[in-house]
Amino acid sequence: MTELAEAPSERSDEQVASINHWIDGKRVPGRSGRSGPVYNPATGGQTGEVDFASVEEVDAAVQAAKRAFPAWRALSLSRRTDLFFRIRKLVDEHREDIGRILTSEHGKVLSDAKGEVARGLEVIEYCCGIPELLKGGFSEQVSTGIDVYSIRQPLGVCAGITPFNFPAMVPMWMWAPALACGNTFVLKPSEKDPSASLYVAELLKEAGVPDGVFNVVHGDKVAVDALLEHPDVAAVSFVGSTPIARYVYETGTRAGKRIQALGGAKNHMIVLPDADVDMAADAAVSAAYGSAGERCMAISQVVAVGHVADELVEAIKARIPKVKVGNGLEPDVEMGPLVTREHRDRVASYVENAPGEGARVVVDGREGAPEQGFFLAPSLIDDVKPGMKAYDDEIFGPVLGVARVDTYDEAVRLVNENPYGNGTAIFTRDGGVARQFQFDVQAGMVGINVPIPVPVAYYSFGGWKSSLFGDTHIYGPEGINFYTRGKVVTSRWPDPATSKVDLGFPQTR
Ligand code: NAD
Repeated sequence: MTELAEAPSERSDEQVASINHWIDGKRVPGRSGRSGPVYNPATGGQTGEVDFASVEEVDAAVQAAKRAFPAWRALSLSRRTDLFFRIRKLVDEHREDIGRILTSEHGKVLSDAKGEVARGLEVIEYCCGIPELLKGGFSEQVSTGIDVYSIRQPLGVCAGITPFNFPAMVPMWMWAPALACGNTFVLKPSEKDPSASLYVAELLKEAGVPDGVFNVVHGDKVAVDALLEHPDVAAVSFVGSTPIARYVYETGTRAGKRIQALGGAKNHMIVLPDADVDMAADAAVSAAYGSAGERCMAISQVVAVGHVADELVEAIKARIPKVKVGNGLEPDVEMGPLVTREHRDRVASYVENAPGEGARVVVDGREGAPEQGFFLAPSLIDDVKPGMKAYDDEIFGPVLGVARVDTYDEAVRLVNENPYGNGTAIFTRDGGVARQFQFDVQAGMVGINVPIPVPVAYYSFGGWKSSLFGDTHIYGPEGINFYTRGKVVTSRWPDPATSKVDLGFPQTR
């Protein structure tokens, strides 16, 4: 077993670790002279300094991936499957270690961090079935003596650019199917919580993944642009905010690359008058404040239909003081801090400005939050409407808005007129209305009495509208399609004696 990186949780705040790139199977200290701080959000102390890659350093990673590609793509499916089972075992065995790294740099509570690893592991498990997933079709005798079959082949060097909020799972959505399909990979994780990617790189090496197949470069726009413009990068997967997703899609496609770019969200949860109010309130609190609201599938907006509103707001309000906020490594803590001080202050500004916009602050999370670190306690804002910043912006923190409408039609209109279309949910006891909602609503992932409908690994994940740029959703069957391209072979083995020149267009009958 190689010596794995020390989890940042095990360092004291005085020790600032140097977080390097991972190129061609080893740690490579940055040489650009640029770097950024990494914090433990629960204490506010700096725990790391992450290298920011230059164009040349990104090129070194891409060249390593390019060199590794021919042998990796030629590896038999059974050998690649064997490696994936070993990766699965190692990630499974190190869930706790990865979880601790996530908690120490992102802030989410340890149980949530381990849950993130578990959902990423499901994607790795799906990829253990890669021989089945890459099976093509075969048609015998499409014309006399002619057979046609289809195969899917890898693209080459693929890159992934990932957000801060799922530092282990979202990279797994990308590198697992990319590698399983025979591609090599360069990951550019979020510079806010970069250590998990290095830890996973060491696990992949330990599993036996050849050097250069998986690389990590850290950094900012310089590294992202270098990947988007690099002639040897065939495809880029991106997950992050909508403005950057749009930029990545436009820049990458202009450079001739295949791009899938998943953006931000404003996920509405509609509560109909017939819903079980306690169940809806439990779901709203869990989905709004879990991971301090820093989930792209978090519920950020409840839409209360008709008379249910007063009772629902009271039920949510009653639950908020019971949410235990604190350092995510402490047992029983349910909600941790936000990722950085700047982000905490930005999120808090929505609560501060809500009354001026005409909304009503029911619970103010600026009160009673732990003072050390980047904490904001759960906040609840009622009477939030389109046109208010608290409604129009993706807040991405523990701030839940409530909009009040009179009818189901008005509620659906709100969701459909919103520029985002990631997830949405409806709470009702009426199966017919739920069925109509699934038919009507413009979002990529829909929950019926399920507040966070993240698809399981054998479906694909992705939103509509400004929540996704590109044609394919991520992981699952669409992930396999994204990381491969189709080839159709038409073959015949005729008797040379029957050969003749024929300038007509080939016909089957
Ligand atoms: P972000 O867009 O700021 O950063 C994402 C990545 O882009 C990072 O690796 C970052 O280094 C890079 N980046 C940032 N600014 C850039 C620039 N100007 N040019 C080039 N690259 C740049 O997102 P974030 O704050 O890390 O993550 C939160 C966002 O991600 C939220 O909007 C959330 O909804 C979204 N998200 C979406 C999904 C989804 O599946 N749709 C999943 C998770 C997170």
